[in-house]
This record gives sequence, C-alpha cells and structure tokens, in this order.
Amino acid sequence: MKILFIILDGLGDRPIKELGDKTPLEAAKTPNFDFLASQGICGLIEPVYQGKFPTSKDAHLSLFGYDLKKWGMARGVFEVLGIGMELGKEDIALRGNFSTVDSNFKIVDRRAGRISDTKPLIKALQKITIEGVKFLLAPAVSHRLGIILRGRNLSDKISDGDFHKANIRAPKIRPLEKSPEARFTARVLNKFLLNSHQILKNHPLNKKRIKKGQLAANYILVREAGKLKKLQSFEKKWRMKACCIAGGVLYKGIAKVLGMDLIKVKGATGKANTDLEAKFKAAKNSLKRPAPYRNEVSGAGYDFCYLHIKATDNFSHDGDFLGKKKFIEKIDRNLPIFLDLKDVLITITGDHSTPCGVKEHTADPLPVLVFGLPSGARGKKRRSFFALPSGARGKKRRSFFALPSGARGKKRRSFFALPSGARGKKRRSFFALPSGARGKKRRSFFALPSGARGKKRRSFFALPSDSEGGRRKFTFFALEKDGVHPPQFSSKFGRVKKFSEKECQKGKIGKIKSTDFMRRILTCNF
Ligand SMILES: [Zn+2]
Repeated sequence: MKILFIILDGLGDRPIKELGDKTPLEAAKTPNFDFLASQGICGLIEPVYQGKFPTSKDAHLSLFGYDLKKWGMARGVFEVLGIGMELGKEDIALRGNFSTVDSNFKIVDRRAGRISDTKPLIKALQKITIEGVKFLLAPAVSHRLGIILRGRNLSDKISDGDFHKANIRAPKIRPLEKSPEARFTARVLNKFLLNSHQILKNHPLNKKRIKKGQLAANYILVREAGKLKKLQSFEKKWRMKACCIAGGVLYKGIAKVLGMDLIKVKGATGKANTDLEAKFKAAKNSLKRPAPYRNEVSGAGYDFCYLHIKATDNFSHDGDFLGKKKFIEKIDRNLPIFLDLKDVLITITGDHSTPCGVKEHTADPLPVLVFGLPSGARGKKRRSFFALPSGARGKKRRSFFALPSGARGKKRRSFFALPSGARGKKRRSFFALPSGARGKKRRSFFALPSGARGKKRRSFFALPSDSEGGRRKFTFFALEKDGVHPPQFSSKFGRVKKFSEKECQKGKIGKIKSTDFMRRILTCNF
C-alpha cells in the first residue's frame, strides 16, 4: 500500500465569532473532505517540537517520525537546500532578508518594502571572500535569500543578526561559545554584512528605488545559522521511496535533507495563487508512475508522496479567516482527483496550528484524517501490531503484555479498581457484559490462541451499533467539549457526529503525538 501524505500548513485553528464560533475548516463547505472523513477515520495530532512554539521544520520532522533531539538542525540548512544551493559538510548555512537601514544602521524595514527581484543585488555581492571564507548567495522568495559561508574553522554557534524587530540598531553577530571557531565566524560575518551594506547602498537598483520613493534594500538581516548533519534518510527509515511536491522553499529543503525526490510542478508557488490542480495531478502520477527504482515494499513507483500546501498558514498569519476558509474550499474542490486511487492510503493533516485570531503558531492539537484503510487489513493489521518487535509496541501495551505472568491478574484488578468516574465510558460498557460472562470473557480475550486474536478484535469493532464502537467514537469527540483538549479547539475532521453509527464504528485515531504518526499509519494501528 502506498501513502499520499498531505500537509496543509497551519491548518489547526480556533473558533471564530464571525464564522459562528467555528474554525475556518469547520465553516468551510467541504463535501469532499466530508466524504473522506465519513469513509475514513479522524483524530487529533499533538505536534512535537522544540522551543516555545512549533515551527514548520520541527513539526514536519516529527510528523515524519524523526526525533528532534537527535536530528534537529537549524532552519538555515533547510532553506539553503530548498532554494537549490549545494551545502557541504563544513559549510555554514544562513537564511536572510534584504532590509532597509538608515545611516546609523537602525532598521527601517525588515523586508525592504517586500522587494521582489533581488537578483541584481545578489549578483553584486556574489563571491565576496573575507579572511579565506567565501560567501555564496542565492535568491529565495521575494526579499529572502540564502547565504553559505564556505571555508575552514567555521562554527554555527553564532547569534542571529535579526531579532524580528524594526526600529532597533541592526544586531551584531556574536559568538555563542568561547571557541576560536565561533569567534572567527562571527567576525567574518560581521565584516561581510558591513561590506555588503557599502555595495548595496551604492547599487544602481537601490538608487532607482529611492528615486521612485521605494525603500532601498541596503542591508542583510541574517539568522538561524546551521550545519548539515547526516540524517537517516526517509527511505532507509521507513523503507518507502518518497517524493515531495511543494512550493515553499523550507519544505523542499526538508524533503531534500530526508532524501526525498523533489518533483517540480509548474505553478507551485507556496502561495494562495498556487496551481492546486497541477500539484494534485503530479501527486497522483507520482504514485502511479513506474519508477526505475524497485523496492521490497511496492515494486515500482513512489511509495510515499509528501504533498505540501502552504497558503493556509499564510492566511492565518494575516488573520484572514475568510481567506483561509475560501482556500480550504478551493483545496476541497480539487480533492476528487484522488478518489479513484487504488491501494493508496491518504492522510490529511497540518504541521501545526496557526489560529487566525493569534496570527502565530500555537501548540494546539491538529485534526487528522486517514482514508483508504484496506477494509480487510484492519483485523489483520492489528494482529501484526502484536507481532511487532517488542521495542516498537506502544509503551502502555508493552508494559501490559510484558508483565510477569503472575502479575497480570493483579494489574488487571487494579485497572478495575479505578474510581468509577475515572473510567472511560467505553471501558465501563465493555465490562457491562452479562456478569456471568465477564471473567470468562476477559480471560479468554487474553488467552485466545494467537491465530484467533485478530478475529476477536475485529468483532470488537463490529459490535452492535448501540454498544462500543459507536459510543466510543462519540465519547472521544465529546471530550473536546469537556475541555480535555484546549476548549477553543475544534476540528471539522473531528466532527463525526453527523455520520451514521455504522460509519463511526470504523475505528478512531484518538490523540497521538506527531512522532508516532508514521508508525501508526504504517501498521494501520488505529
Ligand atoms: Zn507559519
């Protein structure tokens, strides 16, 4: 089975008054998302990240199953790779903005009036060498650029030259540790920034801009220095040949770092004007196309397509909830192309939440939708879950099944000794079986011959609609209202109550950490 992994950037949101206390996703008319939700399963993803707020970079790496403590890298690396620069092992990568400073280096505008064409400026700064360190530059979207420092004895332990604030003096780069390398890197970079300011100040393009009453792009604000780490490839990690379709620079960089192939799509801009139809077509073809590559999972074509759509996040940052809602509707109109894909699991989620009311990323959980679970695979898959190497099992389950045999009964007893209020509804109903059947039932559940387990569990989900399956699902999504999830949070994908009970019995995802998501979808463990 192949996987189409769709990420709608900054998808998660909070209810908005003007939308009738609905999130943009809830308020949007989305017949196709609704169809997928009715036939698939929904849940919530808790983004795993480092620092105060989830960043797209951290959120993506964790969604792809990477441990950030082990694999974290500064964003400069991803940006530089995303715009197509080649990064060596010793190089330092930085992201930058063309900006406007006055004669005292006070920042007038962090984006130089969002200057669009910076190629002539970059050409003028290309290949400056300071104390043996070469500076390589390449333009990114609008006022942004990528910078590489190439030379010996360089360190990425240097401070940012940009505090995301205007009306302050442009910050000098400082070494973040006492090593000679960090001090050297900070020194040459400061020299470069001064040199480039002199060149930019006198550049004909800037003189023209000033004449037109526009802001001169006369200074570079740099940030997020990083070095490339050798990272385990996505293919090696998950044994799936993967490709990426994205407009935004960062996302291409992430894919490149993970060893995914980039599929270029004309009209993929990473903005609201992006050509969704072209991107979706390319995604579909990537999963169909026989590739020269063969692997043990599928034999041909890409096994995994990571499709990234950025504009949902852009609208959120602008607080434009109507724009976000309309853009979600546009995505929905383009979805049907995927409906006839055979043997493809479609997952749709965001990387993090960006509520329009906050205009910044938040740690709120995100809606997730999984469609296309092979119907026969469920019971089977679940069997395979118990056949996973013990290290791979969920912690909870591991300890449950790994208990010394004598302790099991005890464990279970204590489980049922929970104050009645603390038990899940589901559990209560499970043990509300006719009393005579209880002990036997439970014993037999765990004492079943291994071949019979899957069946048993299958039947668990096939319970008559007025018992487990239905109620459990409802309970799960009703939790949101009780404030177990942040009370402001709600999700369209999570709004399953309108579906029939039979549909609700198909299972659930629950609330899972983003780092667990890949493993869960690969084992169909929901
Ligand atoms: Zn964002």
